[in-house]
Amino acid sequence: MTEVDLTEYLFHPAPVVSLPVRGTAALFPVRRIFCVGRNYADHAREMGHDPDREQPFFFTKPPEAVVAPGDPLPYPPATRDLHHEVELVVALAQGGRDLSADDALELVFGYAVGVDLTRRDLQAEAKKLGRPWDSAKAFAGSAPCSEIVPVERIGHPTRGRIALSVDEEVRQDGDLAQMIWKTPEILAELSKLWTLAPGDLIFTGTPAGVGPISAGDRLDCEIEGVGSYTARVAG
Ligand code: MN
Repeated sequence: MTEVDLTEYLFHPAPVVSLPVRGTAALFPVRRIFCVGRNYADHAREMGHDPDREQPFFFTKPPEAVVAPGDPLPYPPATRDLHHEVELVVALAQGGRDLSADDALELVFGYAVGVDLTRRDLQAEAKKLGRPWDSAKAFAGSAPCSEIVPVERIGHPTRGRIALSVDEEVRQDGDLAQMIWKTPEILAELSKLWTLAPGDLIFTGTPAGVGPISAGDRLDCEIEGVGSYTARVAG
């Protein structure tokens, strides 16, 4: 690792956030985190929306949202309604803009199991007032994530169970095949808005069954053919 030359900066720059990669000691350095809203019809319905008429839309989280596997998962401040959303995460090793869906998968390094943690009470307030979602979605520790599994090991998953349990009670139980916008389409749409880059993570939306979690709860997340993520919410 290159030593930071502190004569160039007033103070230490933010550290590089990274995730482990299955099969290698090399880490995946996280650049940005993009998230897709309402990408499973049954979840769109449970949030009170019509899943058939909406274009994909996006929000972001900062790198400090990442919680690597095995790291403490804190219960965040300023909420009484922290919700779990288990999601397939796409990890990019190449960038590009204005991609076609046919070319988009060439950017993908691998996949992971992530949780889009949401302060639902703050999101509800933001929606009501027409304000941004950042305080609901983009807090530190809001994107716990498994190790990344390279495409060369698992290919590009398009179907398979995606599930989340809280204290061994199944809360979310869907299938990747239910995604309204598929991974290549998501990348193509994103690349119209942002120039995608190596290190970008994309959370691809959650199936139905989102709900609250509390300090002390144990989360078990699994995506068939990809992997799993387990953590206990700290108090
Ligand atoms: Mn989500």
